[in-house]
Amino acid sequence: MSQRIEKCNAIVLKVTEYSNTSQIIQFFSKEFGHIGVIAKGTRNPKNKYYGLIQHLGNYEIVIYRKDTSLSLLKEISLIDDHSGLTSDFTMTVLAHAGAELYLQLMFEEDDYKKFYILLAQFYTFLPTVKKNHILVFWRFLLRVAGFLGFSLKFRQCQVCGTQNSELFRGISFVHNGFICSNCSRKRAATEHFQINESTRKLLLILRSLYNLESFEITEQDIKTINTILRTYLSYHLHKKIHLRSLEVL
Ligand SMILES: [Zn+2]
Repeated sequence: MSQRIEKCNAIVLKVTEYSNTSQIIQFFSKEFGHIGVIAKGTRNPKNKYYGLIQHLGNYEIVIYRKDTSLSLLKEISLIDDHSGLTSDFTMTVLAHAGAELYLQLMFEEDDYKKFYILLAQFYTFLPTVKKNHILVFWRFLLRVAGFLGFSLKFRQCQVCGTQNSELFRGISFVHNGFICSNCSRKRAATEHFQINESTRKLLLILRSLYNLESFEITEQDIKTINTILRTYLSYHLHKKIHLRSLEVL
């Protein structure tokens, strides 16, 4: 089995306990995308890395890399533990949802770096906002969709091209954006997700996130837009995307 030493920058998506003293860590790395790593002895208080490896943290790691099984952790040093994310319950939930999403996605090799930077930026930016963290999360989901090649477009009805936003009545999964009342009547109801007035306004805000702390967002709107974006991703990825972390919101 081939095995080589590699150094990379990587964010912890998931940590599970393994045997008496070890951990298995799912990283998302800038250089290699997803990597599963076994960290031997790191739950032993005498280990030099004891307590260092935290969920959502960003690290520089040195591993014995294996292609067909778990890689082995050799060295690890902290870049940013993103501890600011734990200062607020909603923010923690959204950060976990970001990791949960990445665990379900497959990336092209050429895209590893930009998806790594996107996640790192999401975790760094979230704690700088005082309110409406959900808007930052939605922007993050939209950028993920864009990087995967199916941007959602909010400028015009994606069927007839009208830019009169008052007429927007749904989000079309097939046409990747708003659909107006006229066009939605002529199409199968399964092609789009109906939106109400407040959802429409919120989606319009997402085009340009100015003053994102100045909006009042209801729980119902949060649920609706989470459902729209999750369904949109599922539709394009041809598999059901789960964001269970969000269920506690
Ligand atoms: Zn239209």
